[in-house]
Amino acid sequence: MEIIDLAVHELQEKLLKKEITVEQINKEYTERMKIKEPDVQAFVSTLEEQALEKAKEIDRKISTGEILNDGLAGIPIGIKDNICIKGTKTTCSSKMLENFEAPYNATVIEKLDEKNSIYLGKLNMDEFAMGASTEYSAFKKTRNPWNLNTVPGGSSGGSAAAVAANMVPWALGSDTGGSIRQPASFCGVVGLKPTYGLVSRYGIVAFASSLDQIGPITKDVKDAAILLNIIAGKDEKDTTSITIDKKDYTKCLKNDVRGLKIGVPKEFFGEGINPEVKEKVENAIEKYRELGAEIEEISLDIAKYSLAAYYIIACAEASSNLGRFDGIRYGYRTENFENLKDIFVNSRSEGFGDEVKRRIILGTYVLSSGYYDAYYKKAQQVRTLVKKEFENAFKKYDVILTPTSPTVAYEIGTKSNNPLEMYLADICTVSVNIAGLPAISIPCGVDKNNMPIGLQLIGNRFEEETILNAAYTFEQAFKFREKFKPEFKI
Ligand code: GLN
Repeated sequence: MEIIDLAVHELQEKLLKKEITVEQINKEYTERMKIKEPDVQAFVSTLEEQALEKAKEIDRKISTGEILNDGLAGIPIGIKDNICIKGTKTTCSSKMLENFEAPYNATVIEKLDEKNSIYLGKLNMDEFAMGASTEYSAFKKTRNPWNLNTVPGGSSGGSAAAVAANMVPWALGSDTGGSIRQPASFCGVVGLKPTYGLVSRYGIVAFASSLDQIGPITKDVKDAAILLNIIAGKDEKDTTSITIDKKDYTKCLKNDVRGLKIGVPKEFFGEGINPEVKEKVENAIEKYRELGAEIEEISLDIAKYSLAAYYIIACAEASSNLGRFDGIRYGYRTENFENLKDIFVNSRSEGFGDEVKRRIILGTYVLSSGYYDAYYKKAQQVRTLVKKEFENAFKKYDVILTPTSPTVAYEIGTKSNNPLEMYLADICTVSVNIAGLPAISIPCGVDKNNMPIGLQLIGNRFEEETILNAAYTFEQAFKFREKFKPEFKI
């Protein structure tokens, strides 16, 4: 296998045995980027030159013993463009932040720096992470490597497409209502949304603070566990991050699900779920049964209200978080003003795209005094009920299994003019964020057009180990990466 086909843990083995160098790995990746990026358009900005320089330096430091050769030093990574790397542009794929250079590192970047990671570039996304297809980027449309006419999903579409196209071995994304899992599902890779509070949010540009989490997008489950090892942990700079004992998430990968209790909520398999998606997810359920898991159908009735609650809460928080973009403190400033009010109004009108404006208007509306009780308060009440319903389910089951998305990746342009249709497609992922739970999407097959289908495994709070092991066990039995490959067809 070529270097770019290998998962990070496979590269790690080769580095430990000194069969390859950090420079070789980074060269292969930067060359791959040159070939595939013109088609895929996953990057907002690339950092190739720095990457190659740093790679040489790391090889040198490993040879002199200055850096411990743990097989992770010098591994390249792609970062979603809403996560701050000091001294590089962090645009959130918005005109508003087109020229914003981060003055500090996000905590996840500090942690990757401790491992001597190498940044290959910043990855495209829906503007301010609002969207599900990456078509709402102000700069470019990323294409799905499995079929270049289709979307990669979103909002972390650049991250998922770059991993699927082997332009980075792994990447960070962020997930507010599905933005790690759904693009992972569309691009045939693995996406893990950690429990709320497990990974610091310091240095991510906030969309909806009570829902946002940073997480790994990787080629396989073991890599997701390794990357989670690096980024998880309490951070004094994020008061919502939680102190729990440091774990090694690779230790739980037992390749054994005997006796594991899996609940399958019937509401996630009904109307609107594409028949091929349903079939492949049901096959996966059968596989779990063969592997010794105990499967039962359950009902998560309240989950049907999650989508409405999510769009109220997410927009409300976004309208407040995005208040800081006023043309004065950060980012874009209009040239067209005569007074202070003009600066505010015109900078925001010119700097934000339509979807962001739509959400700010919605959010401001649901928070306004006349409507607060009817919308925002109701949504928070629904949130509590959703949480309780999951809590009840986890008294009996270890894992809840659903499709990640009702459909496979669709053609570019088919939903971008119909926001409501786009919102509805988030039906399988949003309740996880509403309840603050961890969930992983893994590929479980392809449809008749060779487009990947994703399976979602939801765990109880801080039980990443349970879903990682369940995902790993399926992956070992199913061998998606060996069977299916992106075709880059047009
Ligand atoms: N598609 C969802 C939205 O548009 C989720 C976005 C996300 O998780 N960042 O809000």
